[in-house]
Amino acid sequence: MHGATYAEARCALENGETSCEALVSSFLDRIEKKNPELNAFLRVDAEASLDRARTLDEERAHGNYRELTGMVVGVKDVICRKDHLLTCGSRMLSEFKSLYTATAIERLEQAGAIMIGATNCDEFAMGSSNELSHFGPVANPHDPSRVPGGSSGGSAAAVASGLCHTALGTDTGGSIRQPAAFCGVVGLKPTYGRVSRYGLVAYASSFDCIGPFANGIKDAFRVLRVISGADPRDATSANAEPPKDSDPDGSSLSGLRVGLPQEFLDEGLDENIRGAVTQTANTLQSMGAEVIDVSLPMTEYGIAAYYVLVTAEASSNLARYDGVRYGFRAEAASLREMYEASRSGGFGAEVKRRIMLGTYVLSAGYYESYYERAQRVRRLIWNDFDQAFSKVDVLLTPTTPTTAFKLGEKMDDPLQMYLSDVYTVTANLAGIPAISIPTRTDKAGLPVGIQLLAPAFEEGRLLRVGGAIENATSD
Ligand code: GLN
Repeated sequence: MHGATYAEARCALENGETSCEALVSSFLDRIEKKNPELNAFLRVDAEASLDRARTLDEERAHGNYRELTGMVVGVKDVICRKDHLLTCGSRMLSEFKSLYTATAIERLEQAGAIMIGATNCDEFAMGSSNELSHFGPVANPHDPSRVPGGSSGGSAAAVASGLCHTALGTDTGGSIRQPAAFCGVVGLKPTYGRVSRYGLVAYASSFDCIGPFANGIKDAFRVLRVISGADPRDATSANAEPPKDSDPDGSSLSGLRVGLPQEFLDEGLDENIRGAVTQTANTLQSMGAEVIDVSLPMTEYGIAAYYVLVTAEASSNLARYDGVRYGFRAEAASLREMYEASRSGGFGAEVKRRIMLGTYVLSAGYYESYYERAQRVRRLIWNDFDQAFSKVDVLLTPTTPTTAFKLGEKMDDPLQMYLSDVYTVTANLAGIPAISIPTRTDKAGLPVGIQLLAPAFEEGRLLRVGGAIENATSD
């Protein structure tokens, strides 16, 4: 919408046309104007951001630039910053302050980025519309009567409406890509393990990924390169070479094979979105790529397997909120009643639903038929992708079955809400990287996103192909 890119700001900084302080001030002004309607930021660190900008400007005066000097970043409120509030969009943690800083934030700060504030999200990142935040819903900047998507809705809306250059979100089943598609920005879910989860509040630990939102692919990859890499504090983090800053060669994709999975183009898909996928395929073809139909037959089991496995992991991860060590604590006569009242009063209805579902699928007698079976399906989905990637280099799909829906539209029907993740969850089940890229808008002026997927640690392909699509759409 407003296209505030860091790439442009960086040029202006280097040419002396602006300063970090001026950048921060102008974002603070915009936040003041726009945030009351959007509710994208839960908290803004105005003074601290200005102070930090001045420090970076002093460095600049000596000609010292870091990788992200002056990039202004919003942070989803599930990622720790020492001594800052960390609510996870929940009453449970409404007064909790972090005791340490997440690795991703530490790396951004070392690279010269400025954390301007915490962005709104669904409670504990569980949701697809941002309507499940204890602090109220976020409005879609393209139409305030619609949702921005979720769970990282605040981050997506903030970037789309020019309240910061980039934002961090998290993606367990689509929470970066789906809101990116609804708000018309780029959203990148890295390979599982590419970015350290140290300091990210756990939802489903074998799925959770931190990744960027940006107005453009280049900015997204700039952030990815800084936050990725091995971290001794997260045993699942990987020591993989970050993707290079290869300028995508817009004119030729010859030799590239693009797969179109037929299961992602079924009847449930909005016609405008189908049109965007076809148009993108044609564009890639005209640049020399070969477009091939492929099949991912297990796709239809993705949602079922996902919601069994993530609720199981969530029921275990959220056991720590017991009213004893931190978080919301209710007064009660006995210890048992205190646990009950704290958890009943601290968590919202959806979080409770998932804890109960997860406890059920893990319980004796049901474990084999639900949890274990879902693990097997996870493996089969993984195999589907392996097979597809033996024939093609990247996959092209829609990001979402519809464009942004109305606030309240799916609130009474959790299953309908879960189905909005139908095209995103399989990447998390397989641990592979995926990106949502804005293409056109539909008749109502709502953004339409397409999704690209690549094999594990091949984010470089998303940069190359995504860059080509971006060049073609901006012409
Ligand atoms: N909407 C999905 C869920 O509710 C995805 C959430 C996420 O990726 N954090 O689980």
